[in-house]
Amino acid sequence: MASQGDCCVKVALRIRPQMSKEKIEGCHVCTLVTPGEPQVLLGKDKAFTYDFVFDVDSEQHHIYQSCVHKLIEGCFEGYNATVFAYGQTGSGKTYTMGTGFDVTLSQQEQGIIPRAVHQLFEGIQSRRMRAQDAGTHPPEFKVSAQFLELYNEEILDLFDEARDPESRSRKSNIKIHEDASGSIYTTGVTSRLVHSEEELLQCLKLGALSRTTASTQMNAQSSRSHAIFTIHLCQMRVCQQLQMQNGGGGNVEMNGVESNPITQPEYETLMAKFHFVDLAGSERLKRTGATGERAREGISINCGLLALGNVISALGDQMKKGGHVPYRDSKLTRLLQDSLGGNSRTMMIACVSPSDRDFMETLNTLKYANRAR
Ligand code: ADP
Ligand code: MG
Repeated sequence: MASQGDCCVKVALRIRPQMSKEKIEGCHVCTLVTPGEPQVLLGKDKAFTYDFVFDVDSEQHHIYQSCVHKLIEGCFEGYNATVFAYGQTGSGKTYTMGTGFDVTLSQQEQGIIPRAVHQLFEGIQSRRMRAQDAGTHPPEFKVSAQFLELYNEEILDLFDEARDPESRSRKSNIKIHEDASGSIYTTGVTSRLVHSEEELLQCLKLGALSRTTASTQMNAQSSRSHAIFTIHLCQMRVCQQLQMQNGGGGNVEMNGVESNPITQPEYETLMAKFHFVDLAGSERLKRTGATGERAREGISINCGLLALGNVISALGDQMKKGGHVPYRDSKLTRLLQDSLGGNSRTMMIACVSPSDRDFMETLNTLKYANRAR
């Protein structure tokens, strides 16, 4: 069992630097981070405290080490995890998450996903080596990935090569199911089995490309869709008896041979899922001009973000008094149901602009992130 402090939702705030355009146009910085405290002051008198606050000069590796590193380690013990990037369009979600696979970015500027992929394969390698050195049976690993986009409450498969990027509204056959143990699984989704860091990153680049191609053709709609990249880690290892006695890890299944415990080692299978979610822009749709297709988009995106906010705040309340968590209110929360709350770890990274021009959207983001605590 995860300890109480471990299973709750953690919230980080990241303030991106001002862009040159904002400086040229005379925007003022309206965010002020309290030195030595995870606290931000917006304008004169609006103070908010989170688990972490990263100011404009924070580097990618620092955010990764503070927010994600531990979660990947947890996957090796069978704990599911989810990392979200939330915020208005242009606030740095894709930069932070690394969903864009921008080839012009330097190593230092790499976002969360490529770093996580690196840590994952390094972890696999070091566990194999450790077993070899100790002369024990090496653990076996299977890594697979999925890359979905949620748009208008419809699920699109970014790994589906047959998908026509121009017909985004085409109905897919993807369905979300729940098994008897409460695990969520999908059918009709392309799952890529990968054997190396390079192979996984290559898959991802193709998926991300399929997303951007579609968005330029279809009017930058990617800012109004959620991108969900999922890594499945399946591990088969010799039972770690001590750990089992202490209650074991997350999702453990035993399948050893009971009759001969001395000569036949017992194996356990650990399954973990890691979701990286680059959420749709949180900006409010302007009332004017929001008709027809655009209005529908606005409503459904708010539906996913609204449901997520409700689920996360219900999880917070549940810790205190228990109660209903409304996972079924959107496809987004349904898909992530078994990776939010319970034994899984969740990190919400709220991204904001420092400029006074974005004051109201930043205030909305700070309030949304505050509900998660
Ligand atoms: P979003 O995905 O929220 O719409 P982006 O991640 O695309 O926003 O960021 C908008 C722009 O700002 C991009 O050009 C991106 O490279 C830049 N940017 C965002 N965050 C940072 C940061 N922390 N440091 C440097 N540039 C950033
Ligand atoms: Mg983006």
